[in-house]
Amino acid sequence: MHEMGVAMQIIEIATASIPEDMKGARVERINLKVGKLSAIVPDSLGFCFEIAAKETQLEGAELVIEEIPVTARCKDCDNEWTIDSPVFSCSRCQSGSIELLSGRELDIDSIEVKED
Ligand SMILES: [Zn+2]
Repeated sequence: MHEMGVAMQIIEIATASIPEDMKGARVERINLKVGKLSAIVPDSLGFCFEIAAKETQLEGAELVIEEIPVTARCKDCDNEWTIDSPVFSCSRCQSGSIELLSGRELDIDSIEVKED
């Protein structure tokens, strides 16, 4: 499953980004930005994360997923718009020469850690 690999990557990155002197702290929340083109199903990722986080420092942490819409810019007329259908041509001039501005994100935005 695609999401399981992603969940394990998130755990790896999150664990590595916790400062050395906070290794005993508990991770409360991971805020994630996921572009709609990344083909991630948020519910499914949350489920995989829960399983993969067991017996790690991230066990019990909440995964908060913010979905980033797909936006594009037309190279011919400079039009910028949000793509909400699988049609990848300019919404104004129908040009197929477009550049994706967002929608492929898969980033950890922030990690909230609780110190005892
Ligand atoms: Zn255009």
